[in-house]
Amino acid sequence: MGYMHQVFLGGKGVFACRECRTHVALRAQIESRQYTGQCGRAILFADVVNVRAGKEEERSMTTGVHIVRDIFCMKCNKYVGWTYIKAYEPDQKFKEGKFILERELIYDAARDWGVY
Ligand SMILES: [Zn+2]
Repeated sequence: MGYMHQVFLGGKGVFACRECRTHVALRAQIESRQYTGQCGRAILFADVVNVRAGKEEERSMTTGVHIVRDIFCMKCNKYVGWTYIKAYEPDQKFKEGKFILERELIYDAARDWGVY
């Protein structure tokens, strides 16, 4: 693979990879905090940056069967969540093209800055 430029996000609501602090998402992109990942709480984002996706696989979840790809930090290669490629249930279609980040695997920079 060729060189990939790392994106730096500005502003206060930045989430980063817990391992290496590479920026991965903005608070403004949060769609829901009501998700559960493999490591506990998880957050649904409309968009993320600086990640690479693994191979497509079919996964059975509490909300039905989905085609997903796990996503990994572009810099340190650590697993951080997954992205929805396809949802079979009509009421789950809204998740297609969106991203789950596992709360335990990302770092909330805003928390350190006293935004809460
Ligand atoms: Zn990382």
